[in-house]
Amino acid sequence: MIREKLAKCYLCDAELDKISIGLNKKLLGRNVKRFHCLSCLANYLDVTVEDLLAKVEEFKEQGCKLF
Ligand SMILES: [Zn+2]
Repeated sequence: MIREKLAKCYLCDAELDKISIGLNKKLLGRNVKRFHCLSCLANYLDVTVEDLLAKVEEFKEQGCKLF
């Protein structure tokens, strides 16, 4: 039986929402294996969470289907 795994941040184990998952795919590549939560992703990319959320809005405006 296949159990669907919940996507979790591989650094802090936080559960990920759709936006975080979309951002990981968008910024790290669609085949990304390790997902980061928003704050770990911000840390990793050396930006702020606000920067990431602004990016999400940009991607949404571009009609990105990941969000
Ligand atoms: Zn995290």
